[in-house]
Amino acid sequence: MKIVDIRPTTVTVPLEAPLLHSNGAHWGRFVRTVVEVEADNGLIGLGEMGGGGQSAEDALRALREYLVGHDVYALEALRFAIANPTASLYNNRTQLLAAIEFACLDLIGQYQNVPVHDLLGGKLRDTVPFASYLFFRYADPATGLGEVRTPEQLAVHAKDLKARYGFRTHKLKAGVFHPDHELDCYRALAEATDGDLLRYDPNGALSVNQARRFARAIADLPNEYFEDPTWGMNGMRQLRDTGLPLATNTVVVNFEQLAANVRDPAVDVILLDTTFWGGIRPCVKAAGVCETFQLGVAVHSSGELGIQLATMLHLGAVLPNLDHAADAHYHHLRDDIIVGGKMSYVNGAIAVPDGPGLGVRLDRDKLAEYAELYRELGGYPYDRDPGRPGWYPLIPNDRWADPTAPQPDTL
Ligand SMILES: [Mg+2]
Repeated sequence: MKIVDIRPTTVTVPLEAPLLHSNGAHWGRFVRTVVEVEADNGLIGLGEMGGGGQSAEDALRALREYLVGHDVYALEALRFAIANPTASLYNNRTQLLAAIEFACLDLIGQYQNVPVHDLLGGKLRDTVPFASYLFFRYADPATGLGEVRTPEQLAVHAKDLKARYGFRTHKLKAGVFHPDHELDCYRALAEATDGDLLRYDPNGALSVNQARRFARAIADLPNEYFEDPTWGMNGMRQLRDTGLPLATNTVVVNFEQLAANVRDPAVDVILLDTTFWGGIRPCVKAAGVCETFQLGVAVHSSGELGIQLATMLHLGAVLPNLDHAADAHYHHLRDDIIVGGKMSYVNGAIAVPDGPGLGVRLDRDKLAEYAELYRELGGYPYDRDPGRPGWYPLIPNDRWADPTAPQPDTL
């Protein structure tokens, strides 16, 4: 089975409300690139990548020159064909590789009529549990609903998500407001969620000293881990005496960094992202290293539609050492581009697809609808906040958002 074509389509799918993070915001929608890889037998495999637009589509189309005629089964060769680590100093294609790897696994699974999890060693669980992944949010400009900036609003939002989806683990995406305000919010979250496990993730925005103070102030709460409290492996290492397990999706995102973390431990839980690591299979390999060295693993979310979510579910299904709920932005989406619409949460978990390949198919009408919406709205700068024109953060940050400011009407 040989690759004959690679076709990218940029789409934008609306979110329930704009989501704030330490570096900026998701401006009320996700921009993603759907990648179709066609094989010489007519089958089409699906991949997905974050971001999109002309340059992302051009980068994917440029891979035709490298990959037309490539054997879909030759997944190790694929890595060296387009993402050789020494060549990648000049042309980092890790995320492109990931999208193509997803599609090749999808093709192999379809051809053999088996789900991708069977190609990865077989599933160990039928569902993957997820955390609630709470964000500070602006209100949706169209409805005026959904704002989260106060402890009270966060508590209401968390209770609502728990009631709707059944989450038993709650992660607060933080690093937006001053840590004192976020501490009040996090304690309100604990109060609202009846002893459920909690995660705080300021995306490396705190200084080591701020992070240490924050850790002390939440020590009595049911914290599962402290995610990227400060920047850098050396910063994280200084926080190993706080008593809170440390997790990362920023400073251990490849095998070199994983090795460094094994030799001189900084982080306890590695959050594996099928895109950042270059595919599902590298994440399975990394999880094996983590099993050997007794590091924790969880499944990370860098934003996803149903195709990428399927990769996260197949990964979560086959990891024996998955001892934490996965993250997903998925419940913030209003719609999806897969047949059947959005996958459902039951008791905080999503069923692992059992159909051939990734087990998801493209809804062509939805793809066309959201490609048109992308053409209408265009991209947005992920590292800017639409409510604070001209703003950008420092590391460690001291340019916090003001929780008392009214929502800007410029969104
Ligand atoms: Mg994170």
